[in-house]
Amino acid sequence: MLPDLHVHTARCGHAQGVPKDYLACARRLGLAYLGFADHLPLYWLPPEERDRGLAMPEEELPGYVEEVLSLKGRVGGVAVALGIEADYIPGFEERLRKLLSKHPFDYVLGAVHFIDGWGFDNPACLEGYAAWKVDDLYARYFELVLQAVRSGLFDVLAHPDLVKKFGYRPGTDVRGLYEEVAGAMAGASVCVEVNTAGLRVPAQEIYPSLEFLKACRRHGVPAAVGSDAHHPGHVAWAWPLAREWLLAAGYRRVVFFEERKPRFLEIT
Ligand code: ZN
Ligand code: FE
Ligand code: FE
Ligand code: ZN
Repeated sequence: MLPDLHVHTARCGHAQGVPKDYLACARRLGLAYLGFADHLPLYWLPPEERDRGLAMPEEELPGYVEEVLSLKGRVGGVAVALGIEADYIPGFEERLRKLLSKHPFDYVLGAVHFIDGWGFDNPACLEGYAAWKVDDLYARYFELVLQAVRSGLFDVLAHPDLVKKFGYRPGTDVRGLYEEVAGAMAGASVCVEVNTAGLRVPAQEIYPSLEFLKACRRHGVPAAVGSDAHHPGHVAWAWPLAREWLLAAGYRRVVFFEERKPRFLEIT
């Protein structure tokens, strides 16, 4: 079974279940590796402006870390890893670096969920799409993704084409953007995440698209897999499709992490 590097917990304010519940599901499914990657606190905002429904408050971060660490090595058959999903916000790189350095994360997923302050993947912020031409939106999104990749802060780029979440598709050929991002990932040693949450939203497609994933493969970028579970029942979501996607792109192994070092597992 492919490792799952991307599960959330109730601490983030919009997911259900505690770490033990996710682990119980992983165990039942026979996963060898389960990585928690809950949302990092909204570090770039003043505390009073941080939406409790988007991420845990900063004072809960040590509790999250301890709770996940307490499960490490305790449960037969499943290796538990401590990850985190961190937003990339230009101009706040040092603040993020400092926050990440306080905890012994096995890996950091980098995510672009905000475009110039707009939470474009938040169902409550859909009216923001009216202000954009889709092609311009894609260009701006991938500009931020490139900055995130080059920041040196992240091990994995989470849901690389999240901008398609609500089904807005570009009118122009964006393969040049995929190519540029894939090349930057190779240059910065950032892995790509194959994220099955895209199948649970209007996009109805794994992140990233097969074209994008093939570009990553051509550049030798390792691929990780995540369900982006926000409910224990989402663990290893659509794993057979993730496997097919990887194989179709030419991948024969996937990456996971221990103390920020990449390890590889053959896809069987
Ligand atoms: Zn979430
Ligand atoms: Fe995300
Ligand atoms: Fe996530
Ligand atoms: Zn996510």
